[in-house]
Amino acid sequence: MVYDDIKTFYQSYKQRKCVIGHSFYGREIYAMHVGEHTGKQFISVYAVHAREWVTSYLALKHIKLGCSFGGWVIPLLNPDGAIISQTSKPLWKANGRGVDLNCNFDADWGLGKLNVKRRGAENCIGDYPFSEPETIALKNFTLKINPVVTLSWHTKGEEIYWLFSGRGDIKGAKILSTATGYPHKIIYGSAGGYKDWCLQKLQIPSYTVECGSDKLKHPIKKLYKLKKCYNALKIFTLEYGKMKKYEK
Ligand SMILES: [Zn+2]
Repeated sequence: MVYDDIKTFYQSYKQRKCVIGHSFYGREIYAMHVGEHTGKQFISVYAVHAREWVTSYLALKHIKLGCSFGGWVIPLLNPDGAIISQTSKPLWKANGRGVDLNCNFDADWGLGKLNVKRRGAENCIGDYPFSEPETIALKNFTLKINPVVTLSWHTKGEEIYWLFSGRGDIKGAKILSTATGYPHKIIYGSAGGYKDWCLQKLQIPSYTVECGSDKLKHPIKKLYKLKKCYNALKIFTLEYGKMKKYEK
């Protein structure tokens, strides 16, 4: 199970690390630090959606390859959901109690085209913004770290999103695009995501990478299907770090 693998990796991790909170069913949500301890920091989050748990292994790849400036990798935001996807309901996207975490952030909450109030496998917004322990944990950790940029790794479709409610910085999207070979795109009709909240409320650049070909079926089980993204965090931090504007 992915949760056990991430937990084992975390326990043997020798750098800075912490538990940022717990899932609805009490599982730990881990964060591991990579790169420089001082100066600007990023946050990079994986497996927000349950069936996209393969991205947790991408996170470990990113940690091993290292970064040019410092930041925090959160490999598995949704451990309860990942277990549901790996055991009984492969296509499950939501958390353990049926709320889609990427619809639960306070950014035009509930206004997404596919949003529903009824709990289930996907698209449920929750009772109010930040109603879920997983989104609260990521919110509080983000406010504490005060990152200069955030990245979210999803599957699938080979696209990069960077804009929400008129905010966004295309420069980072171009770097990610070069690093992965994926085009950057503007999408409409989604709301309440982590990227959306970072852009709208924190006013920091934030990016979503949809890893893996759209032809693949969820859940993607082989990490090598995401190989175009292996070097993406390393390259991103290298190129993004060069941009003087974000020097702290
Ligand atoms: Zn997703």
